[in-house]
Amino acid sequence: MPRITRFSVFQVDLPLHEGSYKWSGGKSVEVFDSTIVRVETDEGVTGHGEVCPLGPFYLPSYAGGVRAGLAELAPHLIGAEATHLDVLHQRMERSLKGHPYVKSGIDIACWDILGQVSGRPVCDLLGGRYGDDFVLYRAISQDDPETMASRVAGYRAEGYRRFQLKVGGDPDVDIERIRAVAAVIEPGDRLIADANTGWVQHEAARVVRAVGDVDVYIEQPCLSYDECLAIRRRTSHPFVLDESIDGLNILLRGHAEGAMDVVNIKISKFGGLTPARQARDLCASLGIGMTIEDSWGGDITTAAIAHLAHSTPTELLFTATDFNSYVTVSTAEGAPQRNNGRLAASTQPGLGITPRTDILGDAVLVID
Ligand code: MG
Repeated sequence: MPRITRFSVFQVDLPLHEGSYKWSGGKSVEVFDSTIVRVETDEGVTGHGEVCPLGPFYLPSYAGGVRAGLAELAPHLIGAEATHLDVLHQRMERSLKGHPYVKSGIDIACWDILGQVSGRPVCDLLGGRYGDDFVLYRAISQDDPETMASRVAGYRAEGYRRFQLKVGGDPDVDIERIRAVAAVIEPGDRLIADANTGWVQHEAARVVRAVGDVDVYIEQPCLSYDECLAIRRRTSHPFVLDESIDGLNILLRGHAEGAMDVVNIKISKFGGLTPARQARDLCASLGIGMTIEDSWGGDITTAAIAHLAHSTPTELLFTATDFNSYVTVSTAEGAPQRNNGRLAASTQPGLGITPRTDILGDAVLVID
């Protein structure tokens, strides 16, 4: 029964191969600020997790908040049994109400420990492996319509067949963006227009009507669940909810009201693999498709995504993300690497990763 003896927190900058990532409302990030959590135990087993918000203006989370939250929360967890994940979550909730993204890195690290202690990959412990690998999407950073369309060929050459356009800007330009990319889509490809809450309801209504003849999924058109539901009810497009779905209550309401065909399960949005698995299993039972990913991250986040995605029924896993191919810095050896637009979870015990200590540098926070 490994008990937690120490937390070490590391900060890593993750620049992007493409220089910047742009999405709705003029938001963009050039260098992601990621936090890696090391959890040590009295049995010598050590686990790692990662939390990387999509800047401070996407979800109610920010990079400095991860570390401030860990400074507040971690002292309450010294001595806790690392592999009793549900008990640990209760203890975390009693120590710090809410702030799921703060808890996510600890939870992922403890799954890493559970896997190592039991000699099994996390994927096995989350339910088992479906098939040899699973499908990824590529996000296409917001740009002018022609540039976005021109990126598809390069991503397809890398094996991607699912393309998620960052829209949620000027609705007239967004209509052009969707049409320009749709014109270069090939049979078997999937096109997703993700507005990331960027349209108000009357704009969203115009866009979905204007692209009514296009085979495109519409993702989170508006800020609120109710606005999205109103749009959902007046379009025939397959519909994805992301930012609005951050827990089981709203997921159940969305199912009851027929609000979506697919939900986006971001691990840190739910508070770690433990609550994300709960949402995943509920979606699987209800027949709701899933995109499985996180807000952002590097090798450790990508490993965690891979274990959750690979243990998700293939027919319901709409797509997932390999964030480590977007960033220029590798923080861990053994992380899964994209192969022909697909990814597989490690078969090694735990997450199957070994952090690069030279990249992590000195801990910015130690709690013991
Ligand atoms: Mg999204």
